[in-house]
Amino acid sequence: MRVMTVNGPVEPSALGVTHCHEHVLVDLRHSLSKFDAILDDEELAVDELHALRSAGGGAVVDMTNAGMGRDVQALRRIALETGLHIIASTGYYTEPYYTQEVYRLPINRLADVMVQELEAGIDDTDIRAGIIAEIGTGRDFITPAEERVFRAAARAQRRTGAAIYTHTYLEQLVLEQLEILRDEGVDPGRVVVGHLGDFRNLDRVYAIAEQGAYLGIDHIGMRVQQTDRQRAKSVARLVRDGFASQLLLSLDICQKSRLQWYGGAGYDYLLAGFVPLLLEEGVEPAVIQTMLVENPARLLAYDC
Ligand SMILES: [Zn+2]
Repeated sequence: MRVMTVNGPVEPSALGVTHCHEHVLVDLRHSLSKFDAILDDEELAVDELHALRSAGGGAVVDMTNAGMGRDVQALRRIALETGLHIIASTGYYTEPYYTQEVYRLPINRLADVMVQELEAGIDDTDIRAGIIAEIGTGRDFITPAEERVFRAAARAQRRTGAAIYTHTYLEQLVLEQLEILRDEGVDPGRVVVGHLGDFRNLDRVYAIAEQGAYLGIDHIGMRVQQTDRQRAKSVARLVRDGFASQLLLSLDICQKSRLQWYGGAGYDYLLAGFVPLLLEEGVEPAVIQTMLVENPARLLAYDC
């Protein structure tokens, strides 16, 4: 069982502190304000990720897939320059970002594309994806195209063993996502439901946890939805209720305004800013290690 990084497979124990939902380079022009929505400065990415490395970070999962500005050759260079392990993604994000193949290919052929990116390489390189992510749904219902992507992702998961990380909108349709993946035979223990922990009511989060899926608490540092003090309280409560081994913490940095150069908190905020809040809420250091190191290593390891 190894982890597939942009520089090849590594032992899971080599990762260290891992952010499971970030964007190193990304283009979200269809959903965010245009200037803020594009991270395409490779030198700036290196500088910003150096701060994470200096703070004790070891690995970053880049959730950027086809249609979102993915550049795996740049990711490989950034990984070499920063000393961080970077894991690249395969899959399709949400409808505004879908490439035409999502609508045209049969589901099994869409799965073939993902398997190809996991097993051979992305964009005519030998740089392989290490996760199927981030695949998303919207607010009110799952569209036919989104369902095709989820079914294809599920089949690619079953053929390869790679994990799936989902994008959800306002914590909607989280159980519907799991239902499709389970219908295809995916073990919920290989799935992360993403963008959780922003709401006062944690019923949906518990419902996911009870099915055995990972919980992506990955909006840490986003002040619009929730304060981090409240997020820390929610994490502490989930830990007390026995779900420490399913929690994954991340920042989902995808805007210029969150980078230090533009006045944001930067990639080291999880370790430097949020971990102290968890300690204040009574979360034991060993449990923090579980969430930051052990859970990502287990999630990302498969027979690759
Ligand atoms: Zn994301």
